[in-house]
Amino acid sequence: MKKIFVAAFLLLFSSALFAAPGRATTDSLIVSGDLTATLPKNIVLLIGDGMGLTQISAGLYSNGNQLQLERFPVIGLHKSYAYDDLVTDSASGATAFACGVKTYNAAIGVDKDTLPVVTIAEILKKRGYKTGIVATCSMSHATPASFFAHVASRKMYEEIAAFLPESGLDIFIGGGKKYLEKRTVDNRNIITELEQKGYQVADFAAADLSQVSGKGDTKYGFFTADEEPVSKLEGRDYFMPAVETAYRFLEESSEKGFFLMVESSQIDWGGHANNSDYIISEMIEFDQVIGKVLDWAKEDGETLVIVTADHETGGYAINPGSTMEKIVPGFTTGSHTATLIPVFAFGPGAALFNGIYENSDIFHKMLKALEDASK
Ligand SMILES: [Zn+2]
Repeated sequence: MKKIFVAAFLLLFSSALFAAPGRATTDSLIVSGDLTATLPKNIVLLIGDGMGLTQISAGLYSNGNQLQLERFPVIGLHKSYAYDDLVTDSASGATAFACGVKTYNAAIGVDKDTLPVVTIAEILKKRGYKTGIVATCSMSHATPASFFAHVASRKMYEEIAAFLPESGLDIFIGGGKKYLEKRTVDNRNIITELEQKGYQVADFAAADLSQVSGKGDTKYGFFTADEEPVSKLEGRDYFMPAVETAYRFLEESSEKGFFLMVESSQIDWGGHANNSDYIISEMIEFDQVIGKVLDWAKEDGETLVIVTADHETGGYAINPGSTMEKIVPGFTTGSHTATLIPVFAFGPGAALFNGIYENSDIFHKMLKALEDASK
């Protein structure tokens, strides 16, 4: 009897070995839940800025004990620390995802010596992919900036905006229009420069996102605010339509595939403000966006979807006395913390994101998923 158990155990163990992460083909297909799926053609990376486990938990309880995040078959954890500080900021955190290097806090697309490092959006653009960014902050803010700009400090908003015309991005939607046209560092008009590079540029005052289509060679830039977009609580309503527009645009206009980075920027701002309602409202909206992206990815069967955060913000806690209906929040700081950060993955290549690893490994895992696909 004992021998049978041992044999059965060995059999299970060896099949587990064959399904270990790294043996991407069969493993990815199993995890995607779709045995007819190929390896990924597209990658959507969704970043909830400041979204630690408590932010997710508070969103979950406040949303009737359910989140779209529960649909992910693969969950990992990343170590968020920066090169020069155990507690990372969003610039260093996003640069780790975008460029695969640990760097100092405030660095945008540069390494610890301030030297530019190529971003995943730039790498994939060169390989023939379409690329896009959607954010609920300004385009010059740390997270989106780290995917297309290379400057020594996150505070160089106008310098960051000046990277947009050369970024190769096929579509971008976010705030911060003033950094392109009301400049103090020079007299350039970056909007005109974008138009000269073949972009159609529109903004919240003039146009409707639904008019954007993926036909032809047009690139598209849409500004949702002159400065920072307002919060969900204050009435921001563009996040879902923007992500849908970008996804459809990239899907329709790309043959080889696309890379889309989506940031829910203001979960972090709720954390900095130690405002639980702010955090929860941003978190639930982000989760709804995630659910839509999962629906589309499931439908097309060729999109790897990754959801993570750069760091936790606020040292947010759900304190005794809380109920599902009413969270009693606690905060340890108005800044960020260094707790491990969850990573959720779905679709072909998802298995690569199992386990515990460095934040910078997310860059390498995304490229590995695509490289396995081209073999
Ligand atoms: Zn922050």
